[in-house]
Amino acid sequence: MIRYLLSLLGPTLMLSTMATAANAQDGVEAEAYWSMAIHGGAGTIDRDKITPEKDAEIRAALNKALAIGSDILKDGGSAMDAVTATIISMENDPNFNAGKGAVFTWDKTNELDSSIMDGSDLSAGAVAGINGTKNPILLARAVKENSPHVMLSGEGANQFSREQGLEQVTPDYYATPQRLQQIEAVLAKEISAADVDYKFGTVGVVAQDRGGDMAAGTSTGGMTGKRWGRIGDSPIIGAGTYADNRSCAISATGSGEYFIRLGVAHEICARIRIRFSEAIKEAQIEVPKDANGNDTYVVHGSEFQLSDEEIQQIADDVIAELGELGGDGGIIYATPWGQAGYSFNTAGMYRGRATSEGEASVAIYGDE
Ligand code: ASP
Repeated sequence: MIRYLLSLLGPTLMLSTMATAANAQDGVEAEAYWSMAIHGGAGTIDRDKITPEKDAEIRAALNKALAIGSDILKDGGSAMDAVTATIISMENDPNFNAGKGAVFTWDKTNELDSSIMDGSDLSAGAVAGINGTKNPILLARAVKENSPHVMLSGEGANQFSREQGLEQVTPDYYATPQRLQQIEAVLAKEISAADVDYKFGTVGVVAQDRGGDMAAGTSTGGMTGKRWGRIGDSPIIGAGTYADNRSCAISATGSGEYFIRLGVAHEICARIRIRFSEAIKEAQIEVPKDANGNDTYVVHGSEFQLSDEEIQQIADDVIAELGELGGDGGIIYATPWGQAGYSFNTAGMYRGRATSEGEASVAIYGDE
């Protein structure tokens, strides 16, 4: 409640006693808040294209994923663990284009991409064009934690996965009848991956834990019919995934080429970080002076937050620029001030959000 009142005040000076991201670093406080958002892909998701059964199935899958992450965050678990566990549940669900249910390449193989980032120290791990690993997000996390690198690809990454002892599966594990039907349709019409509207289904999670740490992760099979070793934005840190305790955590979904060109995930975080530091400077100017003309008070970042409206505007501005370039899709965000939300320019996006303030909702279409 306190947080909502503060957010209404916007980026003005607030003598706050709440557990903010900055002061919560010292230890988890009982009332410290948490938040998360998830997506299961964006695209031409219209009511007339989805049966009521499918609609219910997707909502159940989103609710299940949201509950997994929420339980971890509620119990004081880390944002990294919440992101990892939630993505695993979505990778294991054939409804999504990640892990089981990943789309097929032009050669009818699966090439999976995944990434994860820890906003507390900007450490990150990513894998591109891999197969054989049951849960690509675990491989991305292993790259982050057990290698000196940020990104591994193809056979080398597969080998690293085996050396790490991650669960392996045979190629047929990823296949579902629906994905086979989709690739057959693409091959029959000889259409390019970029023209295909089977793009949605990528999964992503962003979270802020009670300790104030943020994390983001994304996992995908990429685009149906992709070829020539095409890699999208999902495993690219700064394009499809980014997390920084000072600004936000972002996971993207949509036409990856455009997200890469705009560096969407980092761009949103950078704009939030810059706006936040501007707001502090603006408040310092307002501080009364003493008899010698010196400030009577030094404004500290822990006394501030950007408002819900400012965060949404920044995200919407970047997605509008994506649209102007010709890209479609969307992002989910979480901020150090407890906000969790979305921005997308497609008809719909599989999505959900939950916060310690009691928010827990999932949605599919743009108008809900
Ligand atoms: N962004 C992913 C890619 O370009 C696809 C998606 O989000 O659906 O590989």
